[in-house]
Amino acid sequence: MTDRKDELAGNLAKVEERIATACAAAGRAREEVTLIVVTKTFPASDVRFLAELGVRHVAENRDQDAAPKAAECADLPLTWHFVGQLQTNKVRSVVGYADLVQSVDRARLVTALSKEAVRAGRELGCLVQVALDAGASGRGERGGVAPEGIEELAGLIAGAPGLRLDGLMTVAPLTGEYAGRQQAAFERLMDLSTHLRRAHPAANMVSAGMSADLEQAVAAGATHVRVGSAVLGVRPRLG
Ligand SMILES: *Cc1c(COP(=O)(O)O)cnc(C)c1O
Repeated sequence: MTDRKDELAGNLAKVEERIATACAAAGRAREEVTLIVVTKTFPASDVRFLAELGVRHVAENRDQDAAPKAAECADLPLTWHFVGQLQTNKVRSVVGYADLVQSVDRARLVTALSKEAVRAGRELGCLVQVALDAGASGRGERGGVAPEGIEELAGLIAGAPGLRLDGLMTVAPLTGEYAGRQQAAFERLMDLSTHLRRAHPAANMVSAGMSADLEQAVAAGATHVRVGSAVLGVRPRLG
């Protein structure tokens, strides 16, 4: 193995151990939690190593960075998640490689994603991104819709050609009532998921938890954790 592949293998093993321990502590089966490795800012060569090491889900947050990387890795058996704030003028590109968009947070984005998914002849999985720190605008600073906006957006996605409503995503808030209370934030997301599934039983994905707080997310019931730096190291630049 190369030094880099060795390093990634070691980091992956540590993250795997953390997830397994958190599952055991929560009385959950390890299979209930899917690891998504967030490869933003890291090169396609790392994505290739990760695939060789058994990773099957990767995530990116900027189309400029993700599009060429996904093209270079098109031969790999990977599911690509888009998790960043998404401008409508990037939607056509993102739909070209993403299997799921986890950051759906406004009606205009639903319309644009639907149009491009139909055009590309694909079905795109969508998660509603929930901002638990949304202010009076009803939107979070890092994207996301306030809890009150979930139902309407979910209905739009469920009814949109080319789109599939898969569930909810959140990032633990840095401000507001949930600042520093990751587990409470993720438990709130679970409650919102339970409510959503009454109307949309198949929308059972709950994407929460990153390198610093994956244990809290697993304890709260997350089905997917999104881990970047704990696997790949400190990011070379902001992303
Ligand atoms: C970068 C990012 C992550 C991963 O963050 P780490 O702290 O590096 O694990 C998870 N989710 C989203 C939406 C991100 O942008």
